[in-house]
Amino acid sequence: MRTRNAVARDYYGILGVSREASDDEIKRAYRKLARQFHPDVNPDPEAQEKFKDINAAYEVLSDDRKRQIVDLGGDPLAPGGGAAGPGGPGGAGPFVGFQDIMDAFFGGATGSRGPRPRTRPGADAILRLELDLNETAFGVEAPITVDTAVLCTTCSGAGTAAGTHLATCEACGGRGEVQSVQRTFLGQVVSARPCTVCQGHGTTIPHPCPTCAGEGRVRTRRSLTVKIPAGVEDGMRIRLAQQGEVGPGGGTAGDLYVEIHERPHDVYSRKGDDLHCRVTVPMTAAALGTRLTIKTLDSEETVDVKAGTQPGSTMRLRARGVPHLRGTGRGDLYVHLDVRTPTKLDADQERMLREFAKTRGEEVAELSKQGGFFSRMRDAFNGHG
Ligand SMILES: [Zn+2]
Ligand SMILES: [Zn+2]
Repeated sequence: MRTRNAVARDYYGILGVSREASDDEIKRAYRKLARQFHPDVNPDPEAQEKFKDINAAYEVLSDDRKRQIVDLGGDPLAPGGGAAGPGGPGGAGPFVGFQDIMDAFFGGATGSRGPRPRTRPGADAILRLELDLNETAFGVEAPITVDTAVLCTTCSGAGTAAGTHLATCEACGGRGEVQSVQRTFLGQVVSARPCTVCQGHGTTIPHPCPTCAGEGRVRTRRSLTVKIPAGVEDGMRIRLAQQGEVGPGGGTAGDLYVEIHERPHDVYSRKGDDLHCRVTVPMTAAALGTRLTIKTLDSEETVDVKAGTQPGSTMRLRARGVPHLRGTGRGDLYVHLDVRTPTKLDADQERMLREFAKTRGEEVAELSKQGGFFSRMRDAFNGHG
């Protein structure tokens, strides 16, 4: 996509502006793209590459002399193609922080961020729960155990030892950040970095709570019961509001998501709320008809296999599948019939079967008509696959 060494790069195209764009339009376009692709806000590696291009384009187009080179068909950033800017040849040098770019446009970083609060919301958590088909179908109250963080009861989340208080950070004077001046292609940027002494909080804890060491929360293992509704499916997530971990400084707990994993069933395979199973009947039973007893998930059904049933035929038992999660009713149960041809015949059986074939004129197989062969092949696959 990038043509840095081949031909002059299309800096206007990178910023999505016309060749007549005003300085203001270029600035606006750059700010918009920086918001979208800066590595601080977009972790995608491709975004990082894109951001380099965006920076290079802004570096060139915001500088009258460099822009002139571009308008004459040259590339001021190409090796030997013109004077290198403050960022060095070929790019804009080290990344300027996202906030610094915003600050550079909005005029000054001073006081724009302020100290980070000690109390922050807790993270969400996810837990995998394995269930049998019977449990996903009809619901269950499942006991679960989570490793999580709960509020420190010694300090109620404050992080300070009893009778002590937070102190203003001396390194940053309570601002939570320290300023530095950086020379970039944007000119001089006053940038602020979080204070390393107080981690940006602006305060320190001279006497941390002995239970949580100042965290305001403690790690623990919790047991709880999740109510799984009837009809859930593999991969679904159930959200338990504020059952995730408590945040630093005793912040609001995150959510806990329980992800359902359905164990494969010995007999039934599930497609949506429908269930499928296979039953093999002997050739004679398929020809003469028979009665089957099918154990469904929650009942026993007697079904009649009609005389003359073909391999691969299917019977549907209505509302014997999985209950619908939303609304009422249930899926169906499909019984797929295989027909088994006897493989070992004793002399008597063979004689009878030959006589039977003779009465039906079936001693010789006939070539199927077009279509017949394919539909029979299909049935054969359905019956055995
Ligand atoms: Zn504590
Ligand atoms: Zn500080």
